[in-house]
Amino acid sequence: MEERDHKKLGPELELFYIDPEVGKGLPMFLPKGATIKRELERFVIEEEVKRGYLHVHTPDLARLELYEKSGHYPHYQDSMYAPIEIDEERYMLRPMTCPHHFQLYLQKPHSYRELPMRIAELAQLYRYEQSGELMGLQRVRTFCLADAHIVCATEQQAADEVGGALDLIEYMIGVFRLKLGLDYRYRLSLGDRTNTEKYYKNDDAWEKSEALLREVMQKRGCDFEEAKNEAAFYGPKIDIQMKNANGKEDTAFTVQYDFCMPDRFDLTYVGEDGTKKRAFVVHRSSIGAIERTMALLIEKYAGAFPLWLAPVQARVLPIGEAHQAFAREVAEQLKAAGIRVELDDSNESLGKKIRAAKTEKVPYLLVIGDAEVAAKQATLEGRNGKVGALSGSDIIQKLKAEITSRG
Ligand SMILES: [Zn+2]
Repeated sequence: MEERDHKKLGPELELFYIDPEVGKGLPMFLPKGATIKRELERFVIEEEVKRGYLHVHTPDLARLELYEKSGHYPHYQDSMYAPIEIDEERYMLRPMTCPHHFQLYLQKPHSYRELPMRIAELAQLYRYEQSGELMGLQRVRTFCLADAHIVCATEQQAADEVGGALDLIEYMIGVFRLKLGLDYRYRLSLGDRTNTEKYYKNDDAWEKSEALLREVMQKRGCDFEEAKNEAAFYGPKIDIQMKNANGKEDTAFTVQYDFCMPDRFDLTYVGEDGTKKRAFVVHRSSIGAIERTMALLIEKYAGAFPLWLAPVQARVLPIGEAHQAFAREVAEQLKAAGIRVELDDSNESLGKKIRAAKTEKVPYLLVIGDAEVAAKQATLEGRNGKVGALSGSDIIQKLKAEITSRG
């Protein structure tokens, strides 16, 4: 298993590294790693837009009073960094996006017709992790969460939205080729009525919301375990748990039911009868923390990323000097079509060029020799072997289809 360890593969494949001069738990993404991150972010935004999410952008820090209002400051203080003083006011680096999104919802009154309102953001968050807990991209001190808060009119609508969020997560998990039972498991994370320091006190609301999530899971017919004392301070959650190459388990994706914040922020909507009503909130991450998801995917694929995620999707390999001009032409053609391509114009033998590309796990190789120059083609080779001699535009068409399907 160790050769899959993302902490080892990340620097080896030039994806990311941790620079002690920058600081512990603060990953530095190299161009190849930043490419994967960008593709994941595009994927999540594309899917969320299709499913009616409204993307917003809010600041990475906010006044301390906002976190007192949300309850994060009393309940979650140990995971937050010390306040920053600006013009005699105290500001906090945000550990969560919720208070920002609730404030944004409050900016104007909303009608029941606007609900459910799915407010989403790729949000940079900052959480204190003890140095002993830090682990590559899996446990970091700042990360980008694909976060959303869904404001709902009724409990039934909230239950439906929990289902919708799970549909989205399962779709993404499927694209990543992860398997239930093998790569991940479901956990219903419950509160603890006796621990009023950790959890918001409201026994009835806990009972009701835990039952609601349990029912959603049972109706979906998927296996899950229940875990006490693993909930958020504002309500129970459904967690998708994954293990890394070292066997350490973490929550990768989560859907949470919140009966607390709507009161604290006075989140309301105007009902059909014209009166103000209390809203319900679902918190959810879709693709989770991008860094953590990248750690899992680096290990899952052992660096051999599917085409849509591969930092370098194709490499053109001219056999000799005489083939370089046409090879450059083909490389330019692919690049203009948006394919991430490189040209290996070194003086190495073809065998060496192929070995180098395979070590770097480049998905497609385009070999160009005398026959290919004469026919204005390139011999395409994928991870599963030779595809054959094709024109530049046929290669583009084939690769594009594979990229678009995220196959
Ligand atoms: Zn939240």
